[in-house]
Amino acid sequence: MKTTTITGEACLERSRIVVIAGILAALGAILPMLAAYYLSWSIAVRNEQAQLARLADSAVMRADSALKEATRALKTANRFGMPACAEAHVSAMRSLVVNTAAIEDIGYFENGLLRCTSWGAPPRHLVRSPPADFTTDNGIEVIARTYPTISTGVAMTAFRDRSYTALTNPVRFVDVIAEPGTRIAVATRTGIVVSTLNEPHASLTARLADLPKTGKDAEDLFATSRGSNWIAVASAPSIAILNDMDRERLLLLPAGALIAALMVGLVVWLSRRRLSPLGELSIAVQRREFVVHYQPLIELKSGICVGAEALVRWRRPDGQMVRPDLFIPLAEENGLIEEITDQVIYAMIAELRTILLADRSLHIAVNLAADDIKSGRILPMMDTALKSTGILPQQIWLEATERGFMDVKSARATIEEARRRGHSVAIDDFGTGYSSLQYLQELPLDALKIDKSFIDTIGTDSATSSITPHIIDIAKSLDLHVVAEGIERQEQADYLIERGVQYGQGWLFSKALPAAEFIAFYNNSKRQRGAGPAVIRREIA
Ligand code: C2E
Ligand code: MG
Ligand code: MG
Repeated sequence: MKTTTITGEACLERSRIVVIAGILAALGAILPMLAAYYLSWSIAVRNEQAQLARLADSAVMRADSALKEATRALKTANRFGMPACAEAHVSAMRSLVVNTAAIEDIGYFENGLLRCTSWGAPPRHLVRSPPADFTTDNGIEVIARTYPTISTGVAMTAFRDRSYTALTNPVRFVDVIAEPGTRIAVATRTGIVVSTLNEPHASLTARLADLPKTGKDAEDLFATSRGSNWIAVASAPSIAILNDMDRERLLLLPAGALIAALMVGLVVWLSRRRLSPLGELSIAVQRREFVVHYQPLIELKSGICVGAEALVRWRRPDGQMVRPDLFIPLAEENGLIEEITDQVIYAMIAELRTILLADRSLHIAVNLAADDIKSGRILPMMDTALKSTGILPQQIWLEATERGFMDVKSARATIEEARRRGHSVAIDDFGTGYSSLQYLQELPLDALKIDKSFIDTIGTDSATSSITPHIIDIAKSLDLHVVAEGIERQEQADYLIERGVQYGQGWLFSKALPAAEFIAFYNNSKRQRGAGPAVIRREIA
């Protein structure tokens, strides 16, 4: 197994993050600007369509008003009592035409043939009353386009009521003040075009009755208006909104640029955080990237495996394993350690439950951080984790270094409660701190783990080598069980056995192993061992 802080794969991972951050930053810069552009375009389109809708409304209103005036004139004419086409009749019709702004002429028909107009008798040829294209909601018949008898060649719209037909010039419907290029069409409710301005596209006029309220076709934006008798559509080339857009853009682009700058800043900040060791560790905790290896604990005299120490490793997404001493201190300083402890405990239970249930003398030691001991929350948490697994609290040892005991009062409370629940508690790395002896006296511990640095001196004539036997003696005198850490040579094991040290762990026996390999190691050891539990627990009065 390779364990290191930065490897080639880690560099690859970092450059992947840098590339992703670069892409995100580019998107962060481009998207708000595109959004500002899109927004200015859609605002300009909306404004233009609102303007066109006003024009269409106005055209419908003008057509309605012409219809109203013509209706009034026709009703009046139908009430005339004088003989048809007599001078008085013609003169009354003329007066009606002169006094009704919306109508150009009025004609009197009998049996579908024109008898006389406001100008007098009709032309010599027969003029028939054309069939109606549409009937308005007040019963007036509409002939969309007709040519007067005394014609200027201009198509007129005719309104007919019984014997009279009034002509109106439909140009008045579209006589509105509009930008050059604006096109308008007015049609009957059924879609028959009566008047146009600037030749609207056939694509619009052909389907006037079905057009939506607003929309756009290949080149134009349009808006429609519907009255009870008329439909009007006003359209303008899409290109006409460019000026409007420029105005909107002037307002929106600075906002877009500001958002883009903020997005880029955010991406840079997030990626720097993500690339920082703490950022990476926080994500590892969220993603549960931790695995547990188990280092066998050996009964030195018999050489059999009686338990294991659970040692966490961080398996990064690229497969690289990171040693705990490279990330545990960071986790401790930043409040991530308790979550890691929990993940270790749950992983250990899931992986070793079967052998722990099969062999009640087997135990697993879990390393606790200072915060776990200080807060004591580890105990109810362990309780929950073990509940309904069948694993006994006696099978779970708790290990803590001196740092966990610095607040002696809370450490004592946690240790006492842990022991009451059935756990054994060991002081880890004994001898490396300043106050090891004091803790031994003050805390109700079960076991002492002699730090590897003292085991290393066995068989050497270094100054500290003379301390090792004293530590063993102190442990014995306090009736503590002793575990020697980091045994690498047989000579060290022999020395420890001779001194009465019961348990040891180290590469001489095995390195920390993944669960499956540890189970195989343990099964192999079990085959060679006789019966008999190895419970490390001392009786404290
Ligand atoms: P520790 O609890 O004292 O664990 C013993 C360390 O010594 C382990 O290192 C183990 O792999 C190593 N070791 C055991 N035998 C030998 C040997 O013969 N030679 C050598 N050179 N080393 C040996 P590891 O796994 O790197 O753990 C380092 C420390 O990280 C642990 O020291 C413990 O303080 C901490 N740690 C590990 N897992 C956890 C955990 O789940 N929670 C907390 N809070 N701390 C943990
Ligand atoms: Mg330990
Ligand atoms: Mg240790």
